[in-house]
Amino acid sequence: TGPELFLPERPNSRGFDLTHTPTLDRIDAARDAFRAHHWFAQPLLAGDATPEAEEPVINPALPEDRPGAVAPASAADVELALAAAAPWQASAAERGRVLNAAADLYEEHYGELFALLAREAGKSLPDAVAELREAVDFLRYYAANILKGEPAGTFTCISPWNFPLAIFTGQIAAALATGNAVLAKPAPQTPLIAHRAVQLLHQAGVPRDALQLLPGGPSVGAALTSDPRVWGVAFTGSTATALKIRAAMAEHMQPGTPLIAETGGLNAMIVDSTALPEQAVQSIIESAFQSAGQRCSALRCLYLQDDIADDVLTMLKGAMDALSVGDPWLLSTDCGPVIDEQARQGIADHVAKARTEGRVLKELALPPQGIFVAPTLIEVPGINALEREIFGPVLHVARFKSHEIDQVIADINATGYGLTFGLHTRIDDRVQHVTEAIHAGNIYVNRNQIGAIVGSQPFGGEGLSGTGPKAGGPNYLVRFCAPDRQVVAA
Ligand code: GLU
Repeated sequence: TGPELFLPERPNSRGFDLTHTPTLDRIDAARDAFRAHHWFAQPLLAGDATPEAEEPVINPALPEDRPGAVAPASAADVELALAAAAPWQASAAERGRVLNAAADLYEEHYGELFALLAREAGKSLPDAVAELREAVDFLRYYAANILKGEPAGTFTCISPWNFPLAIFTGQIAAALATGNAVLAKPAPQTPLIAHRAVQLLHQAGVPRDALQLLPGGPSVGAALTSDPRVWGVAFTGSTATALKIRAAMAEHMQPGTPLIAETGGLNAMIVDSTALPEQAVQSIIESAFQSAGQRCSALRCLYLQDDIADDVLTMLKGAMDALSVGDPWLLSTDCGPVIDEQARQGIADHVAKARTEGRVLKELALPPQGIFVAPTLIEVPGINALEREIFGPVLHVARFKSHEIDQVIADINATGYGLTFGLHTRIDDRVQHVTEAIHAGNIYVNRNQIGAIVGSQPFGGEGLSGTGPKAGGPNYLVRFCAPDRQVVAA
């Protein structure tokens, strides 16, 4: 019979055509209803919560805008949630039906979710559209791939502010698809969208004792990762926090409990002299500056072969000039704010140091207000000059000579990270050689290196970048299941 002639039907969400004016008008109208809305987030528990005092939630782009407030979980709330957590007893088919219903509800509420993504997380509209699609894809993909395995127990899911809907939902959907109980702790910067997402999941039919929300900071996270009643932890965030979680789990939890961690990256791209410059520049701009560089997949260090470096840099600086930096609510915005003042300060210090060393090649102007870092290009001798991941719209660029390519690969691998990598070249042998030698979970050739698609591009790194298995891939759910049991009867 041989292979199928046709590709399998793509299960991914269809998204929106942002080049179609009537579509844009409808999105605008749906978002506008939430332009001044005030949301409130609090613990969503199986019982009654007694949260801490309310705190304001900021809009990083507009100092005068307050999208809402959050009442973080108290220690008593954490205890209540741990005691009440109960696996989702429904059949696999019923769990799948409910997760698909939640995906439909997410899509129905696109206006509100886009407004939240802009006002709480600083997401441009294209970023918000991609994020909703990814969240919906996770729900449908895990629903479609539910395993026969036994649920393991209670999972703590700790998610980052940079994908406050997609990664938040992905972790939860995986744990729920496999029948576990979930204790979800969203990033402190983005509790409102997490609260709304959990409301939609409950509305779709996820029982309240199978999914509880505990907004809060590090103390809530620490309590949820050091309790023997928790069976496993799914975490996306910094490498340093992942190592702390691992230590706490080793001390307090059973030896076999899984930590599924997706952490940082120091991602590189190599552009050799056979690359198509226009294509490379487009990919560089997207990889480094989309989402204001606040993706763990983002390009941090660009290697240009020296005989094309000057031409590519001239084009790159021109393309940077065309970027519009500002309020992500506006359709014209390419690069929104960074998430908070602490993040801005850390990135600004790094740029200031490079400025005094005379290494800044290009820096855009800042908008008059809001928490912004202007897209910046910094010259470095190589990736080993970067001491840490700079989580913002700052791109470093180094030059290499043709015979140095193996040293460049060795330097990239020596960072110890291994998340994404980009290569622009027209030489087939080079594609093979470089992609075999590079240690990275997701490798992209002649395109940008962000925006992995659920199902077709499972996402995750190696080394300091994460534990695997890859999110949105066929092996992810296995880690959420209990070890197989075998019954042998005579
Ligand atoms: N999955 C995202 C991407 O491919 C990155 C996730 C993250 O930043 O944590 O761009």
